[in-house]
Amino acid sequence: MFDAIVVGARCAGSPTAMRMARRGYRVLLLDRARFPSDTISTHWIWPPGIACLKRWGLLDRVVASNCPPIRSLGLNLGAFILTGVLPAVEGVAEMYAPRRTVLDKLLLDAAAEAGAEVREGFAVTGLTTSGDAVTGIRGRQRGGPEIEEQARIVIGADGRNSFVAKSVGAGEYNARPMLTCGYYTYWSDVTPHLTAIHPHPRRMVVSFPTNDGLTLTYVACPREEFRAVRADLDRHITEGLGLCGDFAEPFRAAKRAGPIVGTGTIPNFFRKPYGHGWALVGDAGYHKDPILAQGISDSFRSVEWLAEAIHSGFSGERPLAAALADYQRTRDEHLTPMYNLCCDLASLGPPPPEIMSLYEALRHDEVERNRYFGTLGGTVPIPEYYAPENMQRIVAGAAGRA
Ligand SMILES: Cc1cc2nc3c(=O)[nH]c(=O)nc-3n(C[C@H](O)[C@H](O)[C@H](O)COP(=O)(O)OP(=O)(O)OC[C@H]3O[C@@H](n4cnc5c(N)ncnc54)[C@H](O)[C@@H]3O)c2cc1C
Repeated sequence: MFDAIVVGARCAGSPTAMRMARRGYRVLLLDRARFPSDTISTHWIWPPGIACLKRWGLLDRVVASNCPPIRSLGLNLGAFILTGVLPAVEGVAEMYAPRRTVLDKLLLDAAAEAGAEVREGFAVTGLTTSGDAVTGIRGRQRGGPEIEEQARIVIGADGRNSFVAKSVGAGEYNARPMLTCGYYTYWSDVTPHLTAIHPHPRRMVVSFPTNDGLTLTYVACPREEFRAVRADLDRHITEGLGLCGDFAEPFRAAKRAGPIVGTGTIPNFFRKPYGHGWALVGDAGYHKDPILAQGISDSFRSVEWLAEAIHSGFSGERPLAAALADYQRTRDEHLTPMYNLCCDLASLGPPPPEIMSLYEALRHDEVERNRYFGTLGGTVPIPEYYAPENMQRIVAGAAGRA
């Protein structure tokens, strides 16, 4: 009998197992994949996510993987470029974009080092129940017989198509239609350039450095173009880069270092993340468009909220159901503003006039420019910054200066 069985061992599952094992709980961590392995995801991590890695003692491992830090960021608006440095959170202002082959493996290793029992190549095929309570899982090691394992709680960290969520019928809420599809590829021999977001009507392009001297380029477009885009991925990437003016220059002599991958299935939803004997974390419980690359950072933060809730329930500090209800409340309160911002940006429409005025004002105001980038990265509160009176204050301040 385990205290917890965690299904899925990437950026939500492994840290959950690690955090619980470090508290002394008996944890089983399962994934049908083997590690290191890749998944469809670019891998940008904002300062709040990097701060989690630092607290967990794992940031040094990311740095040691030879993944370059990213200290400043650009927003290429065509007529001008805004450049900024994010306000720090817990002393962390850097961003990193480690390959998932690197990140997910080091998270898995950290869970094992903390004492979690790890089984790779193990597919969960069913949940065991008693009345309305989940009591464990059924599944099999590749090629092996079906077995059962029991636990006080089964945690679905099994991604947006979560088997655990489907099995327990976790309800969705605040769902929005799919907005974008996105494809990316890697390049070698790209000369260093400002990491920047390039918004265009119907396109968003992002490019950043990762491990092994490679640069990743992601091009998002409206979901309704999915079929046309998928029919000619080379064209999608080349035309996307072509919109970025001088930024495209370093790619002209660069070599593609991998296939073009991506997806047209990018739902936007929250799911109820707990019930009797089960909980959800990461994409299994909350998924949004990756236009602002928040999934890993959000997963890390949700891991901390969930692991603390389970501990306070298991230790008898308060009823587990009440602690898990707080987990849901905390997650939704903290992450809803960013969810709404991601959905707004993922509509890939032209910026409304008040945002154009803000951009113009930010050219003359370094502090507010940095804070603007902080809203994209989760280090500056979104409701406060985008409040009409605050935006008017910034615009008026810039006009006064001019
Ligand atoms: C195109 C794209 C680009 C993105 N770019 C970024 C980015 O730059 N930055 C960022 O922060 N986020 C990004 N994201 C989002 C990010 O990838 C996710 O938020 C993140 O991977 C969620 O991690 P997770 O552990 O919850 O789920 P996943 O990474 O999906 O992992 C789930 C794991 O569960 C396992 N599993 C599933 N079912 C079972 C089963 N039945 N039995 C056993 N194992 C099972 C799977 O094998 C998998 O390993 C992007 C997403 C997409 C689609």
